[in-house]
Amino acid sequence: MNKVVLDNIPCEIDFKELQEKLRINEESDCLVEIKMMAAEAQLLARPKVVYKNAKIEAKGDNFVVIDGIKFTSRVLRVNLEEALEVFPYVVTCGTELEDWSKQFEDVFTIFCADTIKEMVLRLAFQTFEAHLDKEFGLGHAVEMNPGSLSDWPINEQIHLFELLGNVKELIGVQLTDSYLMLPIKSISGIRFPKEGTFENCQLCPREKCPSRKALFDKEYAESYKIH
Ligand code: SF4
Repeated sequence: MNKVVLDNIPCEIDFKELQEKLRINEESDCLVEIKMMAAEAQLLARPKVVYKNAKIEAKGDNFVVIDGIKFTSRVLRVNLEEALEVFPYVVTCGTELEDWSKQFEDVFTIFCADTIKEMVLRLAFQTFEAHLDKEFGLGHAVEMNPGSLSDWPINEQIHLFELLGNVKELIGVQLTDSYLMLPIKSISGIRFPKEGTFENCQLCPREKCPSRKALFDKEYAESYKIH
């Protein structure tokens, strides 16, 4: 399947949610400024997604081959035991919003702009999930992201980008030499159907991570037999 680009994503920033994230109340002096920032961002934001429906062609002990490209990860391999196809993707808040956010110089407005970009990225990701459900009846699905576990290191981003073609040309996201994505508020990964639940965090023992979505489960982690 060819790559699919979603670039007409509805983007309505929930101001109440933004206010809660920024912890500012109705009496705050900066309320008007934040409202203006949100309105401006909403007008400019063009979040985007590129994905494809790819076939799993081979599986080894700790790797899978997807559309001719080899990914090395024991956890990915185990999670794809029943799967025949996957959906590699990159989702971004968009270069338009990234460029807009560069005008801010003080700590607070930089934080506000970052929070807005994060919210736009989440909206784009939700649109992507709904799109896959509608187009492919994906239903229950989970995802894995290169770099989120030591078993699937960040340098595997190269293969993911290779699988998706010219991601920079398609949606404006580029990889740095250290495999980070620009704009920073972008997510890359592979989404696939899977019974039960899976969160990278269940296998990650890192303490005090502010982004943790699930508790570390030692027994579950050991069931993957990561060598
Ligand atoms: S606990 Fe934190 S570092 Fe570990 S996988 Fe989850 S989000 Fe990533």
